[in-house]
Amino acid sequence: MERLQKVMARAGVASRRKCEDLIRTGKVRVNGETVTELGFKVDPDWDRIEVEGRSVHPERKRYFLFHKPQGVITSMSDPQGRPTVADYFREVKERVYPVGRLDYDTGGVLLLTNDGDMANRLAHPRHEVDKVYRARVKGVPGSEALEQLRKGVMLSDGRTAPAKARLVRIFRGQALLELILHEGRNRQVRRMCEAVGHPVIQLTRIRLAFLTLERLKPGQYRELTAEEVVRLK
Ligand code: URA
Repeated sequence: MERLQKVMARAGVASRRKCEDLIRTGKVRVNGETVTELGFKVDPDWDRIEVEGRSVHPERKRYFLFHKPQGVITSMSDPQGRPTVADYFREVKERVYPVGRLDYDTGGVLLLTNDGDMANRLAHPRHEVDKVYRARVKGVPGSEALEQLRKGVMLSDGRTAPAKARLVRIFRGQALLELILHEGRNRQVRRMCEAVGHPVIQLTRIRLAFLTLERLKPGQYRELTAEEVVRLK
């Protein structure tokens, strides 16, 4: 459920302020009833909204699976002018935004949507959405370091929750680790690996829930199918 003025503004009726004026002055009806209360909440998918007798069509919900390249900011704008994920979504007219974030130097699976409820749900650790990372790290973590990663590592913002960690491959003094987390703290994988003595050289998120990179090249995206959206909910 969302505030009526927010849904109206997003549907392009007018600015949020102007929409509030329209509500206050009795120009807006929801399911046939005039609403003048500014805190009124509606379900944009179900409630019928009319402004001065004309029906308002809320923005369509869109969901995109994006292969975020390294060297791109997970934000829709950057004051320093660096490339952002918005650069890849210019032709999408709905205002989609990223669910959670990946660091500038991290590539991989990123979901973008304009569905705020879905974004909140996926971002919350309570829902235990798998976030699977492949980290190329310095040195080869022994069983003790792996056990630490699994049990939880003490970081500046507290101990991390239990996670899955396994060694995938070893090559030339480096190792490829796979970590499965449900949390999404800032630079969490990098800080966890650093804390156990194996700084990250390269980091990729290879899966979010059941969504993998498939054949998407860095910078490419595809829209989720209706079935995938239902599965995510
Ligand atoms: N952990 C990190 O350190 N960086 C990311 O981008 C995601 C998880």
